[in-house]
Amino acid sequence: MIEDEEQKRLRKKEREEETIERKLLQKKRQDQIFVKKEGTVELPDQLSVKEFAEKIGIPTSQILASLVKNGVFANLNSTIDFETFQLIAMEHEVEVKKTESTATSEMLFEGNLHELLKDDAGNLTPRPPVIVVIGHVDHGKTSILDRIRKAKVAEGEAGGITQHIGAYQIDKNGRFITFLDTPGHESFTAMRARGTKTADIAILVVAADEGVKPQTIEAIHHAQEAGIPIIVAMNKIDKQSANPERVKGELNENGLHPEEWGGTVPVIPVSAHSGEGIDDLLEIVLLQADLLDLRANPNRKTVGTVIEAHLDPSVGPVATILVNTGTLRIKDPFLIGRVKGRVKTMIDASGKSLKEITPGGAAQISGIDEIPTPGDIIQVFDNEKIIHKKIDELKALHYLKKGMGLGVSQIIDKLQHGEMKFLKIVLKADTNGSLEAVKQSIDKIKNPNVGVKIIHAAVGAVSDTDVLMAAASQGIVIGFNVIISPRVSRIADKESVEVQNYDIIYNLIADIEKILTGLLEPELVEVIVGTSIVRQIFFTKRKLMIVGCKVESGKMKLKSKTRVFRNDEKIGDGVIIGLQHFDKKVKEVEENQECGIQFESDIPLEVGDKVECFELEKRIRTL
Ligand code: GDP
Repeated sequence: MIEDEEQKRLRKKEREEETIERKLLQKKRQDQIFVKKEGTVELPDQLSVKEFAEKIGIPTSQILASLVKNGVFANLNSTIDFETFQLIAMEHEVEVKKTESTATSEMLFEGNLHELLKDDAGNLTPRPPVIVVIGHVDHGKTSILDRIRKAKVAEGEAGGITQHIGAYQIDKNGRFITFLDTPGHESFTAMRARGTKTADIAILVVAADEGVKPQTIEAIHHAQEAGIPIIVAMNKIDKQSANPERVKGELNENGLHPEEWGGTVPVIPVSAHSGEGIDDLLEIVLLQADLLDLRANPNRKTVGTVIEAHLDPSVGPVATILVNTGTLRIKDPFLIGRVKGRVKTMIDASGKSLKEITPGGAAQISGIDEIPTPGDIIQVFDNEKIIHKKIDELKALHYLKKGMGLGVSQIIDKLQHGEMKFLKIVLKADTNGSLEAVKQSIDKIKNPNVGVKIIHAAVGAVSDTDVLMAAASQGIVIGFNVIISPRVSRIADKESVEVQNYDIIYNLIADIEKILTGLLEPELVEVIVGTSIVRQIFFTKRKLMIVGCKVESGKMKLKSKTRVFRNDEKIGDGVIIGLQHFDKKVKEVEENQECGIQFESDIPLEVGDKVECFELEKRIRTL
């Protein structure tokens, strides 16, 4: 018995010693983690107390104590914003700055995926490539997409119902490849015009019997402008009339030098009908993807791109999302364009429900408040409060900038400041002869600082895709003796793309030279600052009025010139001489807010009138 007691005592002592040792080890480890960081530490918009402590190298207990001192009662997993942590970091003499891994509204607005995807190299892991299939009509894009899909998606997904959601993923030798299944470069360029780069590699489909056609050339230019590698699928190789050597020659003439001829472009003979060559094509896609070393960070909040969107009668607005980085999960709160939502369901192209999508993957999601636009960026945030704030900021930005292209004045500015090295031109002409003549004249333009790059030249009227291509590449469209339909003009206006038509080469060249040298004269341009609706009349005395308004768009600005509209008809002018928000005198009042306006005008205002604020801005004259 006594021995038992003795043994028990010893074991207890041993255990105690072990605990002390473990604690010491833990402390040692903690001390190793918590070594105060030197230099500037980058922090995201928001992070947990634990993450923050590790990042700046100060023990969590100290951070929690500092937070309490500042009136913030948190635990290790509480998420705290950058601004608060900045104060705490200062207290501990660590310098911090905000990383841009979460978007500023400007980035979101401009669709600046590149900036949004920035990440520490150490966080990145390989992701599947995303492929777009382009080429001339009837050369077999849809057939190839169907063939790949049937062969590969169906294998592991027996029983699944095929859904055309705009993207599907296949498994090739244990590796995933994502295909955008809206063939053609139009939607791809429309997305690019919105600033998003969706695909990593283009498969250019060329029929082996017909060879290179006008749309093949257009597709080549689009892929080249997007800066993505091209793999040629020489389709319909099963046909008697197939002539592979001729096709290779034509590709070569158009700047795609086949590998077999010592160039860099793989040309793979395939048949969508028999399936011949499809496996080779996929092998080459994977090889090309290896060269690109595509990576993303699955452990962060998602940034993705809308591929397709529509209204589903049963679940409401749905959108197919390509996840560029991060992992998208059910219940994630997000912002798409200027629309908010929370992921409710996710299904893939085989109709299977998913709980999460990792980078390079795509799925159709529901839980969106409104139908977004393809090319819109989706970003997941911590909570809806931040999303609402972003929406307000985006609305204000939207009001200030029209389209995705750059107007001539901005292009000139960028050329002058060295931010742009080339003036990019999409050139359209009425005949082959005039196209060549214009091209040659443009080639002769000499400027020591900036060059001219014709990104696409073809015969025919200016089309939507020409405008979108110029928008996507921040260039202009120049026509020579061509038709520019009112519809195309409207798109150009919406996208802020300069489209000009000439009938004299001399004038065309002179205008290009003016852009290159920045010699276009400045002019005064009217910029609308905002509009508001009169809700109440408080006071009227001769020319002076005090009215209550709600800002409908943009903002109201003190001392701004204004115009007054009644039933959409202009009825007079005026000046805002006093501006009030609740009982505070202010200089500006933002969208959706109420304000009191002291107004000087000849016209007595009435309830329902629209007051439009505008300013005059000096801008470089457009062509
Ligand atoms: P898209 O307009 O580029 O999407 O072309 P489609 O996939 O719709 O194909 C156009 C036509 O070519 C259809 O009639 C197809 O059946 C046919 N086609 C597609 N691929 C092949 C092929 O490999 N061999 C043959 N002989 N015909 C094909």
